[in-house]
Amino acid sequence: MIGQLIEAGIDGARLNMSHGTREDHATRARHVREAEANAGRAIALIADLQGPKIRVGELPQPIDLIRGESVVIAGEDVAREDDIPVSPAVLGSVLTPGKDILINDGMVRLRVQSVERGRATCEVIVGGLVSSNKGVNLPGVVLPIPSLTRKDIDDLNFALDIGVDFVALSFVRSGSDVRALRTLIEAAGSAAHTIAKIEKAEAVLALDDILTESHAVMVARGDLGVEIGAADVPLLQKRIIQKALERGKPVITATQMLESMIHSPEPTRAEASDVANAVLDGTSAVMLSAETAAGEYPIESVKVMDKIALAVEPSLDYRHEIPKSHEQPTIGQAMSNAACDIAEALGARAIVVPTFSGNTASAVARLRPRRPIIGCTHHTYSLRHMALEWGVTPMSMPEANDVEDIWGRSLDAARASGLVDPGDRIVITAGTAVNIPGSTNVIKVDVV
Ligand code: PEP
Repeated sequence: MIGQLIEAGIDGARLNMSHGTREDHATRARHVREAEANAGRAIALIADLQGPKIRVGELPQPIDLIRGESVVIAGEDVAREDDIPVSPAVLGSVLTPGKDILINDGMVRLRVQSVERGRATCEVIVGGLVSSNKGVNLPGVVLPIPSLTRKDIDDLNFALDIGVDFVALSFVRSGSDVRALRTLIEAAGSAAHTIAKIEKAEAVLALDDILTESHAVMVARGDLGVEIGAADVPLLQKRIIQKALERGKPVITATQMLESMIHSPEPTRAEASDVANAVLDGTSAVMLSAETAAGEYPIESVKVMDKIALAVEPSLDYRHEIPKSHEQPTIGQAMSNAACDIAEALGARAIVVPTFSGNTASAVARLRPRRPIIGCTHHTYSLRHMALEWGVTPMSMPEANDVEDIWGRSLDAARASGLVDPGDRIVITAGTAVNIPGSTNVIKVDVV
C-alpha cells in the first residue's frame, strides 16, 4: 500500500502518535523505508506528537447528548458514574460559567453553567454522540499543561529511535514550546526537523516567534477551526502560508482537503478548489488525513491531489525579490535570489543546488521559480528534509572533495533526475568551501 501511495505521488508519511500502537508505527515506518528504497526517491517520515490535547476518558459506552439537557464534565480523578470524564484532569481549575466545551472536532458543543470541585455542569448546546478518547477543545481557555506531556516525551524517544525526519508538535502555543522540542531532539543526537502545528489562537498570536524557532509549520485546519471558528480559517491559512514563505520555511496545509473521498472515488468541486487554493496561497505541501489513513480510496485521493497541484502550479508567479538592505540577507539568500533571476533571464531548464543541509534549496524554493529545483546532497537526512520543500527534487550525490567535484557531480545528479535533457541550460549555485553548511557563494551557468 505505501509503495502504491509513493507511486501515486506522496513525498512524506505521517505517523500520528494520537492513534495506534508503537508496534503499528514501527511497522509502518519500516514499510515507508522499504518502499522509499524501491522507489529510489526520498520520503519524509513525520512523527506527529499529540501535545497538550484534552480527551474524553474511558466510557463504558458512547453517550448520546440531546440539545437542552444537562451533563457533567469532570476531570478523571473526580468524575462520578454518569459524568463524562476527561484527561488530563485540569478541567475543574480552568473552566468558568459561560465557557464552551467542544467535543469531537466541535461536533458537540456544551456551555458551562457552574463548576464545583472539578466538576462542570453544562447545558448541551449542540447534541451528538460522545465516545471514549474523542478530542475536547476549550476555546479561549489557557491550559496549565506542559507543551510536551510525559506521553509526548516517550513518543518522541520512540520516534527518534525509528529514525523519523520530522517531529510535528500539536497545540503549540509559543516559540518556547518548539525550542523545548528542538532541545530534546538535539540532545538525542538526531537531525530531525521540527514542525509547529498552528491550531490554537495563542499560536496565531505568537506566529513570528514560532516561525523563528521551528523548521516548518502546519496549518492544522481541523483543530484551528474548532478553536477559532471555521469562518476565520481561510484568511488565517493565507496569513500563515505568507509568513512561512517570507521566512523560507516549508508550510503544510492539512485536514479535510478531500474529505468526501473517504467514501467516494471523486472529490467535490469545492474540495478541488480548496486544494488548488492552498497551492495558489503558496503552500509547500498539502496533507491528507483520514482519506489515506482510513478511507476507501487512498490511492485515488493522492492521485487527485497530485493532479490538482500539477494543474494549478504553472499559474504561480515567480516571486522576484530584491532583498532590501535593512533585511540583511545571508549570502546564501542573496545568491539564491540572483540564481533565480539568472535562470529566469536565460530560460534555464532547472536550478541545481548542491547543498549540505538543504537550506539553500529552501532559500531558492522560497522564490517559487518557474522551473524545477534539483537539491543534491550526500546526506540522507537532508534529502528527506528537502522532500517536503516546494518544487525541490532531492537527488543523492556522492560527497565532493573540491569545487570541480561539485560542478561535475551536480551535473550528474541533474541528468539522473530525468528533469533535464542533453543541451539544456542549467544554473548551479554552490559553495566553494566544500562541505561547510551556509557557504553558498558562487553561481555557474552550465549546459547538460
Ligand atoms: C488538524 O487538527 O488539522 C491536524 C492536522 O491535527 P490532527 O490530525 O492531529 O488532528
